[in-house]
Amino acid sequence: MFKKVDTRKKYAEMEREIIQFWKKDKIFQKSVERRSKDKYYSFYDGPPFITGVPHYGTLLSSIVKDAVPRYWTMKGYRVERRWGWDCHGLPAENMVEKKLGLKSKKDIEKIGVGKFNEACLRETSQIASGWEAVIDRVGRWVEFKNAYKTMDLDYMESVWWAFSQLNKKGLIYEDIRVSLYCPRCSTPLSNFEIAMDNSYEMDSDPSVYVKMKVKGEENTYFLVWTTTPWTLLANVALAVGKNIDYLKIRTAGINYILAKERINNVFKDDAVEIVGEYKGADLVDMEYEPIFPCEIEKGYRVIAGDFVTTEDGSGIVHIAPAFGEDDFNARKINNLPIIMNVDEEGKFTDGEWIGKKVWDANNEIVKWLKVNNFLFKREQITHSYPHCHRCHTKLIYKAQPAWYVNVAKIRQQLLSENEKINWYPEFLKHGRFQKGIESAPDWNISRNRYFGTAIPVWKCENEDCREIKVVGSYAELKKLSGIEKKDYHRPGVDEITFKCEKCGGVMKRISQVFDSWIESGSMPFAQFHYPFENKERFEKSFPTDFIAEYIAQTRAWFYVLHVLSVGIFGKISFKNVVTTGTIAGSDGKKMSKSLGNYPDSNIILEKYSADALRFYLLSSPLLNAQNISFSEKAIQDIQRKTLATLWNSYAFFTLYAEVDNWKPKEKFGKPANSKNLLDIWIVSELHKLIKEVEVNMQKYDLVKATKPFEFFVDNLSNWYIRRSRKRFWKSENDDDKNNAYETLHYTLVTLSKTIAPFVPFIAEEIYKNLTKDESVHLTDFPLFDEKMIDEKLNIEMKRTRDIISEGLQQRALNKIKVRQPLKAVTIKDKIEDVELKDIMREELNVKDILISETQEENIKLDTNITPDLKLEGIARELVRVIQQMRKEAGYEVDNRISIFYTGAKEVFVKFGDLIAKETLANELSFGELVTFDLQKEILIDGNKYVLFIKK
Ligand SMILES: [Zn+2]
Ligand SMILES: [Zn+2]
Repeated sequence: MFKKVDTRKKYAEMEREIIQFWKKDKIFQKSVERRSKDKYYSFYDGPPFITGVPHYGTLLSSIVKDAVPRYWTMKGYRVERRWGWDCHGLPAENMVEKKLGLKSKKDIEKIGVGKFNEACLRETSQIASGWEAVIDRVGRWVEFKNAYKTMDLDYMESVWWAFSQLNKKGLIYEDIRVSLYCPRCSTPLSNFEIAMDNSYEMDSDPSVYVKMKVKGEENTYFLVWTTTPWTLLANVALAVGKNIDYLKIRTAGINYILAKERINNVFKDDAVEIVGEYKGADLVDMEYEPIFPCEIEKGYRVIAGDFVTTEDGSGIVHIAPAFGEDDFNARKINNLPIIMNVDEEGKFTDGEWIGKKVWDANNEIVKWLKVNNFLFKREQITHSYPHCHRCHTKLIYKAQPAWYVNVAKIRQQLLSENEKINWYPEFLKHGRFQKGIESAPDWNISRNRYFGTAIPVWKCENEDCREIKVVGSYAELKKLSGIEKKDYHRPGVDEITFKCEKCGGVMKRISQVFDSWIESGSMPFAQFHYPFENKERFEKSFPTDFIAEYIAQTRAWFYVLHVLSVGIFGKISFKNVVTTGTIAGSDGKKMSKSLGNYPDSNIILEKYSADALRFYLLSSPLLNAQNISFSEKAIQDIQRKTLATLWNSYAFFTLYAEVDNWKPKEKFGKPANSKNLLDIWIVSELHKLIKEVEVNMQKYDLVKATKPFEFFVDNLSNWYIRRSRKRFWKSENDDDKNNAYETLHYTLVTLSKTIAPFVPFIAEEIYKNLTKDESVHLTDFPLFDEKMIDEKLNIEMKRTRDIISEGLQQRALNKIKVRQPLKAVTIKDKIEDVELKDIMREELNVKDILISETQEENIKLDTNITPDLKLEGIARELVRVIQQMRKEAGYEVDNRISIFYTGAKEVFVKFGDLIAKETLANELSFGELVTFDLQKEILIDGNKYVLFIKK
């Protein structure tokens, strides 16, 4: 009936066979297609960058993205799962640049944008295959073949549509603003790209105080502090706080003006004499002599700025509008000029350091300041500073024209819509996510790059007209230009021009492409080419029921999904979101190949199992968005203590069922109609487990949904089966035996369904063998029956187990073997149930259980061993030896045997029946056997016994 279970087989091997079976029998497809289209559960895959390689982080999110849809499928929902790829943007470009040996944008333009983009298309198309094997191996079900790609033409057209919708709603504008900028990639980056993990690095920079001479006053200087000396070349003004107190002090014959609060920090122990006192407002409009004079109008004067503080520096801030956000804004208010002396590669365009990269010039500039007597003081600071998330180049702040989504305009709606989202864990909702929305600047969505969706903005070339046309589809563009293309990537799309409606001039596309996050955020509709196609599919799946990613995505993918969906549709795009933490190496440091602080995932999967890795991750604090350090030991424990234990329970069942030729009356198992307390109890625990999984999965609390499984397996194996063992192999009561089989069969089958979403392999193996049904993943999730849950019994059983283990500890402390019977045990709180008492008596091997409410300990053993008890202990020891001999002789569990012995007769006389019964002996006699299967000599308490057995 049941396939024999090979307990020595490697789990990894079993898992690989199951993967093959799933593929061959199309179990995934069946699990989707057999569910009604009317009961739809929507899932969005957050697309990984196509350039990456799978790592523990991607495995983690893949495992979550598998477990949750599997659960909802078993709840009867149709859960389509489609893989997606983020193809565009700097990750792809950088990869191709490296491959082609290109070092800058100029190199790209030299070989031609067309060639470059072709290479990007080619490279990214080849990469996908490496992922499939890994995703398969961890048991994730997802449609790979039909994956959407953000570089597909259909996809890009939907992104155009999205942009035109935002534009119609007045949420798009072009402006010159300061943002973080990568000099190597020659493009601005968005604030949340910088918020992702690998964007900050520790840097050591000069921190300098420079002297700016007050115009018309001898020997008097404003003291100005900066950590970016290179920006001094673009200085146009100084800013002070209106209400901040300033002093003019004299030291060594020179006057300095700075904030009163900063004096002690700047001058430390130097003797200073106060020669003037001001409010910041008094200083406004004073003029100074610039260090690097340029011909500008209305510059080199003091302005007021509310961004000036006295937390560091001198309380006087140097203003370079081209290279700072506050600076740029101050320019608008104070009508200041702007000096842009840095090109798109971050090199100076004029002056002493022309052609030099600004960060490289930094130290030379400080030296120059010193030589020319502008330097007051130089220190060095170490601070965390943003770097390019792709090429690690140190960023600069730079003013440039760019296109923006007006986030401020929809901020209130973003916040109110957030209230409708179920965040797991919940603290992220009003924490990180809400805070992110509250402080979000407008979103810079234009990139001065190549491999991306072209921004569909055409501008009139006529300087006096500058008419703008936002195009929302390829058809619209064809209508305007008469041109239709096979590909709308650059440079092809740049070649399309049309006549200006206003002045008759030429409308030409602006050169930028979209920030690829616009594309990731457009996946709800762009994956279906909505609104051009698949209207129904989109509407059915939007907003989605479930997404999951790691915590940094609260400021990235989750955020852009929310902004675009609220901006375009006025509502949320996801209803439930699970946010995971991040996994560090075993030493708590970031996982790193060179540090060798984590094992390769393939090794882990082969050595333990995908189920073990899955369960480890799903039941860890990661699922509460906390970070953990990778622990191979923990995976090993799960494999050994939980999965192998379950496997052994299952093997035990099949072994004995085979011996007894037992067959279930009901194929899928049913709870036995048993009065046996253990049967009632394990079924009660089983239904409690189903309930816990159910309740917590509905809340997306995966930790609480998975953890109880460990306790259940312990109960099943180390208590239910251990206590019931005899019922299987020597029960004289057929009803009781059948009850035990029915209960265990029902429990294992139901358990396999309950754990199928989390550990899909072992669940499949058990289910298929015990039911001969097609697949556990095509079944319904079991329903718990409140009537089956006897909470009082569960508690009493647990208490009994606890007292017993305390009693066993006392035996160990007193060095009394468990086989040695004792007279009595006294417990504090009485146990009412007779069967529980029997269990306790047997487990502790005592004759009597006494109650003493005045006793302090929960349990106290009577350790006095009488001669009779001693003898019984010897009998038990002999039973153990004979059992061992049976095994060594290779007997089947139900073989009857004969035993002969020599040695002290007393124990055999007194306890012969017990020995014979326990060892399935038909004969127990004194004397030596001439022919036997096995002979053994043992010494117990100084007495020698020789035992002979035969069948
Ligand atoms: Zn870069
Ligand atoms: Zn025009």
